[in-house]
Amino acid sequence: MKREKSELLFEKAKKYFPGGVNSPVRAFRSVGGTPLFIKKGKGAHIWDADENEFIDFCGSWGPLILGHANANVVNAIKTTVENGSSFGAPTQLENELAELILSNNKYVEKIRFVSSGTEAVMSAIRLARGYTGRNKILKFEGCYHGHSDSLLVKAGSGLVTFGNTSSAGVPESFVNETIVVSLNNEEAVKQAFAEFKDQIACVIIEPIPANNGLLLQRKEYLQFLREICTENKTLLIFDEVISGFRIGFEGAAGYYRIQPDIITYGKIIGGGLPVGMYGSSAKIMSSISPEGNVYQAGTLSGNPVAMSAGIAQLTECLKKGFYEDLESKTKFLIEQIYSNLKSEISNLKFFSIGSIFWIAFTDKKEIRSAEEIDAESMKYFRVLHKELLERGVYLGPSGYEVGFICEAHTKDDLIITAKAFSEALHIAMK
Ligand SMILES: *Cc1c(COP(=O)(O)O)cnc(C)c1O
Repeated sequence: MKREKSELLFEKAKKYFPGGVNSPVRAFRSVGGTPLFIKKGKGAHIWDADENEFIDFCGSWGPLILGHANANVVNAIKTTVENGSSFGAPTQLENELAELILSNNKYVEKIRFVSSGTEAVMSAIRLARGYTGRNKILKFEGCYHGHSDSLLVKAGSGLVTFGNTSSAGVPESFVNETIVVSLNNEEAVKQAFAEFKDQIACVIIEPIPANNGLLLQRKEYLQFLREICTENKTLLIFDEVISGFRIGFEGAAGYYRIQPDIITYGKIIGGGLPVGMYGSSAKIMSSISPEGNVYQAGTLSGNPVAMSAGIAQLTECLKKGFYEDLESKTKFLIEQIYSNLKSEISNLKFFSIGSIFWIAFTDKKEIRSAEEIDAESMKYFRVLHKELLERGVYLGPSGYEVGFICEAHTKDDLIITAKAFSEALHIAMK
């Protein structure tokens, strides 16, 4: 596989950007080698600067549920941008996207559009604090909620701990407001509520944690969180930036039939353009400025071009059978991989839900918390990733990241991928 052009571009990029990238995981540090500079995408395929072609399972880390350069999305963007790209004034397109969402998702009543998932979560946390008049928040180790200060924390060694900052530049005093506990542990949550009675503004969770492996939670656990939050007048936030419109149009809330107090969205909602959203009941949302006293704003919020891309994409998602098709493709891929493997590999497991899948090198039946992931096993992923690239299959460059199936993946794509996988796995695990 030729890499010259990507290598040259990366050398240049390193002069301009820290690590040569504008978001750290893109630097390929955890798999080694040079990041591929992508030139073009169409459907489920991408091409790099050296003209290598790949079947893509990264999908821009989730947003591209229809695949690359979907004709409807592209046309919507073109038509809209012809009439101007931003006004800083309301447009009808915001209403249209809102209507599309609210009439098909009963878990939010009123929403606000922002420009990224990070911004959606940051705003949701401020809303929860403003609404409850409390300061502390509770998050789970292994859930990612974007890069705002109070959420860049990792757990300490106790059952209930204040976060240790996971990034320089985050003051100790900020993380003292963030309590961190393990996923799938009722006792830890109970203890946190006992220790910080009437101080916890919100519990925030990825109901389908998919940023640190795929840590599928028990429905009873999510139900437990719902109940303990209600009892304590604490708001439950579902961060559905990755699961929203991915696991179904109503995301994880709809999948588990659990009503959180606030939900955050991003990724798919913008059709590949930068859009985030948070939503709640009309009552809670009335705390947001200019109705209420929780300030939140954005120069490009509700950007018309991004709204039109979102409308085009979500319209496709609403078609009958859309999510069922994605799920059966995912199952087909995993079945094909298993059936291609010449010999049983005992410490290999594919976890999946809807169109999300994750490869874990483990003999555990289930992995529900971050500490159950064996960091040592990532050595297999390194080899797997490299061997898959050689065979024209592109996964996100980290073993902690999940893969995504999109509408544009064809049966042939999946058969080719499964063959590549079985070859690559035999090499990775020998
Ligand atoms: C991707 C993601 C975010 C951050 O969104 P950005 O658009 O990258 O800022 C937050 N929460 C979850 C669950 C995510 O998957």
